[in-house]
Parts: sequence; C-alpha cells; structure tokens
Amino acid sequence: MKADIPEKGAVLQRDGEDYAIAPHIPGGFIEVAQFRKLVEAAEKFDAPVMKLTSGQRIAIVGIKQEDVPAAWNRIDMKIGHVIGLCVRMVKFCPGTTYCRHGRQDAMGMGLKLDELYHGYSLPAKFKIGVAGCEYSCAAPLTKEIGLRGAPEGWTLTAGGNGGAKPKFGHLLAEGLDDGQALEAVARIVDFFESCTWANKMRMGAVIDKIGFDEFKKAVSIG
Ligand code: SF4
Repeated sequence: MKADIPEKGAVLQRDGEDYAIAPHIPGGFIEVAQFRKLVEAAEKFDAPVMKLTSGQRIAIVGIKQEDVPAAWNRIDMKIGHVIGLCVRMVKFCPGTTYCRHGRQDAMGMGLKLDELYHGYSLPAKFKIGVAGCEYSCAAPLTKEIGLRGAPEGWTLTAGGNGGAKPKFGHLLAEGLDDGQALEAVARIVDFFESCTWANKMRMGAVIDKIGFDEFKKAVSIG
C-alpha cells in the first residue's frame, strides 16, 4: 500500500524501498523521554538501525513507506529539513552551558538561530554553525554562516561549505555581542534570499562570483 509521505519527511534509501525519517532535534539535545519514544518507534516499525547524523539528528532508518505517516504520528516531533533549498541545519555545540572550554553561549545562540531560520527557504541549501570557542566543534568555518566564540565576543565567517567542493568561510567580523551577531546573520540571510539568480549555487560560490568586497558592501558588515 502506498502512503502519503510528508513533504521533506522521509528519505528514500539505497534499496529503493525503505525510508529514513529524521526529526528535528536542535543541536542534538533531546530529553530522555523523547529519546525513548524514538527508540520505541524504531522497534514498532521494525527499523533495523538508528543513525546519529552529521546534522545532529537521530534518523530512524529502514521504515516501510506505508508506515512513514504512522511513525511520524507516534514520535510527534517536527520534521528535520534534511533536503531542499532552505536552511538545513543550525549546528551548535554545548558552549558555556556544558563545556569547560566555552567562551560564548553557543547553545543559546544556536537555539535562537534554529528557531528563526531552520527550514527557511533560500536559493540553495544553507547551513549555520555555532561553536562556543576556537576549537570549533560545530565546524562553523565550513558553513554558510559561522559563529565562533572568543573571550571578547563572536567571530563571524560567511561562505563556507562542505561537500564536493569544500570551502572555508571568509572572516567578516570579530568581537560581536549577541545582538550584533543576530543582526549580522539576518543581513546575510536577507542578502542570500535576494540572490534569486543563484539557483542552487551555494553562497560561497556566489561570493566568489561577485567578489568578497561586493559581498561585504551588500551585507554592510566588515
Ligand atoms: S567548540 Fe569549544 S565550547 Fe564548543 S564543545 Fe568544542 S571545545 Fe566546547
């Protein structure tokens, strides 16, 4: 029996038959009771494995197509935007909340950015990374927008990405407080949203095309 698959709610697996579902788990932080629900859903729908993803999600892998809607109902969580032209993830580390190395509140900033931007439609896939210190555990330099905590504030980079043609982001600003960092992120997102011509070109390639100085002028940062 075929079933309606929620938009972006399931990813067909290599066997061409089974699906993976990956609920939204901001920063990978999940309450124990909710974690238990995920495990129970995996058991209920005979999923052979669960996968901790690079996007800080927990995917349930190997669900039959007809069971996908019921699995979503059972776990009762938001869909993770794992595919599509949008802000796919805001990856963040524990920062000053849990980590002894933390210099800035990466968890607070990451949750705020996640609330504002996760799933936000843009001309290409787009990722944000927030790390609480220079050790960069959330890999901010390889994200379209990266924030890295330093004693004097946030260091902002833009235009990084992973994938087949990886790039490090350009340094845009240092010593930003939380409000300044959020404002700068909003300007960068607005800029990229206006690049309708980009058509799946990632922001790092857009910056290469127009030049970093033009980009800085466009976002009025740096
Ligand atoms: S980036 Fe720094 S603050 Fe964040 S988890 Fe790594 S060591 Fe800790």
